[in-house]
Amino acid sequence: MSNHLQLQRDYKKGRVYMDLKKEIFVDIGILGGGPAGYVAAIRASQLGAKVALIEEKELGGVCLNVGCIPTKALLKSTDTISAIRRSKEFGINGYMENISWDIAVNRKNRIIKTLNMGVRQLLEAKKVTLLKGRGTALSDKIFSVQTAEGVVHVHCDKMILTTGASPLIPTINGINLNNVITSNEALNLDELPESIVIIGAGVIGIEFANMLCSAGVKVTVIELMDRILASEDSEAALELLKIMKRKGITFKLSASVTDIQKTDAGLAVSYTVGGKALNQPCKKVLVAVGRKLNIKPLQGLPLEVKKGVLIVNENMQTNIKGVYAAGDITGGKLLAHLAFMEGKVAAENAMGIKSKINDTAIPSCIYTNPEIASVGMTEDRARREGVVVKVGKFYFRNNGRALTLGEREGFVKVLADQNNIIIGGQIVGPHASELISELTLAITLKAKASVLADMIHPHPTLSEAIWEACGDVMGRAIHK
Ligand SMILES: Cc1cc2nc3c(=O)[nH]c(=O)nc-3n(C[C@H](O)[C@H](O)[C@H](O)COP(=O)(O)OP(=O)(O)OC[C@H]3O[C@@H](n4cnc5c(N)ncnc54)[C@H](O)[C@@H]3O)c2cc1C
Repeated sequence: MSNHLQLQRDYKKGRVYMDLKKEIFVDIGILGGGPAGYVAAIRASQLGAKVALIEEKELGGVCLNVGCIPTKALLKSTDTISAIRRSKEFGINGYMENISWDIAVNRKNRIIKTLNMGVRQLLEAKKVTLLKGRGTALSDKIFSVQTAEGVVHVHCDKMILTTGASPLIPTINGINLNNVITSNEALNLDELPESIVIIGAGVIGIEFANMLCSAGVKVTVIELMDRILASEDSEAALELLKIMKRKGITFKLSASVTDIQKTDAGLAVSYTVGGKALNQPCKKVLVAVGRKLNIKPLQGLPLEVKKGVLIVNENMQTNIKGVYAAGDITGGKLLAHLAFMEGKVAAENAMGIKSKINDTAIPSCIYTNPEIASVGMTEDRARREGVVVKVGKFYFRNNGRALTLGEREGFVKVLADQNNIIIGGQIVGPHASELISELTLAITLKAKASVLADMIHPHPTLSEAIWEACGDVMGRAIHK
């Protein structure tokens, strides 16, 4: 019998482990040091708890190490390439000798290191016990952690499970070939490939397609569905699709990948569209078909799991009393800022403070050029659910600031209910990820479109497009 199994059985029989190497006793034990886990640790210790945080890799999880931050750091490099390419339009003869991608990757690594240290310092300042090692839940009160120095047991009154997600690897012939990579490896390329096939047109696939195309890589995206960005408003996704095609990205939609082969020139991806077998040669393949939630370390607990998602209630409590979960592991939108909030809510409830998330106002952002950001209701969903909405729209081509920036593509769309209360918004356009907070605040405060239409927005700014879209909901946009 394995050591873990023995421990689990002994625990159930109420035995005490006086002979074990190391026992740690805390109020709250947290498994996973990503956005959900480290925020939960900070919040719980703010509330007076003695906390232990277990992380097998690096603090900050996917977001800081192989997700949000590294992708945006590299995006800045490719945005700079685009700016140099377009520089003549602005009266400057920019000249690009070559791209040193290794320097871009090093810059990205330095940013990660700085932020990583920041998270560590925050946790240390809060006196959180940090354990580096792979943890497993032995029971609802004990984690076993395999550290470099041996096994440590963390005994806790309450648990918070925040083990996150990993790239989903589909079963396709040739998936294990060299140069078939996931987003994790794509962030650490020594040099840019001449061409790449990206399998999957979800957020991760589309962000990499945009980034690599800007850097001069020939990009082909193969997607099973007949559209990109399935979770986004279809009009916003279509607008971005047109822009990305104009930039030179090839899209194969309603296409199913059958296998990947090694060729003399590199790789070739076979796929079918409408029963027709086709083939796309390339140097690398990026697999971006989704994320698999890290449930395995939690198998020692009788948790309610549906379709690989850990089920929690609105207070982030699982079906087991005293065991909470937060972040990607609980499914829904896999977003770092949602994970932050869920971590906070889990910690508060574990500490006896009833709190929950406002799930009507969860913004999501896609960092392409231009960006897409959305919050709340979409027109597609309103149609599906039979909700009658008023829609106001304003195009960036009519916004002075957008024209000065040379970023005239996209629009702001605002959805309001019959009482003109804002219930949704989508932005395709420059700095959409920054602009969306105004609409998120409006939804959070249940503000009416008339309030934003009457609010003075500074001129010239991109935010005037929100003012105008709200004016449009009220039938009184000025520059439309
Ligand atoms: C390429 C990419 C780009 C992204 N960009 C964005 C973005 O721009 N904006 C956004 O909001 N979201 C983005 N995301 C999603 C975001 O990274 C996740 O939603 C977020 O990291 C989830 O946080 P989490 O704490 O739930 O899980 P994770 O970040 O996955 O953290 C879980 C942690 O638990 C640890 N762990 C797991 N099992 C164990 C174990 N048994 N023992 C010890 N430790 C364990 C893992 O090592 C990991 O560090 C992106 C994701 C990817 C892949």
